[in-house]
Amino acid sequence: MITIEEVSKRYPDGTVAVDRLSLDIPDRSITVLVGPSGCGKTTTLRMINRMIEPSAGRILLDGKDLQQQPVNALRRSMGYVIQNAGLFQHRTVVDNIATVPRLLGWSRQRARDRAAELMARVGLDPAMAKRYPYQLSGGQQQRVGVARALAADPPVLLMDEPFSAVDPVVRRGLQEELLRIQGELGKAIVFVTHDIDEAIRIGDRVAVLRTGGRLAQFAPPDELLSAPADDFVADFLGADRGIRGLSFFSTTGLNLDSTPVVAEDATTKQVAARVRPDVPYVLVTDVDGKPLGWAEPAGWTEGEKTLLPPGQTFEFGRDSLRVALDCAVLSPTGWAIGVDRTGSVVGVASQETVATAIRAAHAERDLGGGGGGPVDGPPFAKAGVGK
Ligand code: ADP
Repeated sequence: MITIEEVSKRYPDGTVAVDRLSLDIPDRSITVLVGPSGCGKTTTLRMINRMIEPSAGRILLDGKDLQQQPVNALRRSMGYVIQNAGLFQHRTVVDNIATVPRLLGWSRQRARDRAAELMARVGLDPAMAKRYPYQLSGGQQQRVGVARALAADPPVLLMDEPFSAVDPVVRRGLQEELLRIQGELGKAIVFVTHDIDEAIRIGDRVAVLRTGGRLAQFAPPDELLSAPADDFVADFLGADRGIRGLSFFSTTGLNLDSTPVVAEDATTKQVAARVRPDVPYVLVTDVDGKPLGWAEPAGWTEGEKTLLPPGQTFEFGRDSLRVALDCAVLSPTGWAIGVDRTGSVVGVASQETVATAIRAAHAERDLGGGGGGPVDGPPFAKAGVGK
């Protein structure tokens, strides 16, 4: 646990970068510092590993004042990842990753074995080991940066805009990779970004800072989205925070309808039996239950079926209500298709059904019930990521 107590930083030119900031950063979770450029995020992060010393206040690591601890040992207990990875250009990938273990006196072989293990962990092909940083893409360099920071298995990982310089698709992949690694390793991660979407996607808790290094709100992402503390936070979150907040509600409570679902070998009579005035289509599946497309019953004759494409599907109970709503909005019929883990159809839901589930989830949350429970997923990894 890192405890930031009433910490301020005033630079020699008089700039107050951080102003009486207090934050508790728990173990085994990702705490994100987010806010506009110049609000003191980097200064705060660098005070944690003492690259910058506070002007006032104190920072404790597991109850011990950082000031009392030797700087070198402290830095080695904290991995540090920066934008553009900051790799040593004249060292190979494997030697970059092995840097801290070698400094700690590990044998060359042990350090290299550790580097190989970490390359696998961050999803780097072993064939990259002998390359130099300039021979890697931006995303691969960031992976090396993360592997290097993890090399000596530090309990704390400090990350300063680590994914800001890569394109959005690669960035999404790196975020998912970080959540997966965190699920396995459970570090105390402090992550700085200016991108609120990134903060919400990866943070267990998010600290929103305003210019002058003052804390505007410190809360889990779903709480930020549903109850921003003031207009500054609401503006920073953006206009569609209601829709984005649906990522935190599970589809478990969605009332799926299996009546309009028929297999492709159904007879005209069986199809007719499935049709209701409120569902002018049937969803046709193959014999294994995988969706093939939507059919208008009037156009259904044996051997002659015209199908509309099924559109996207959501995994019932695992994907969020945001995904289900998106499926319903994009569906050619306005009905979303819920499938199980294997991709077989469980049932369908109209836009109205999704809207009913959204209202119920909001009501349950407002009563303190958690809004239909968290979206399923492994510990630390947020399911529905990127959806
Ligand atoms: P962020 O990471 O949120 O962009 P920083 O922590 O880098 O913000 O900077 C916070 C404020 O402190 C900014 O106004 C910045 O210009 C100022 N600042 C940063 N480093 C120094 C420095 N060494 N000397 C003077 N002012 C600085």
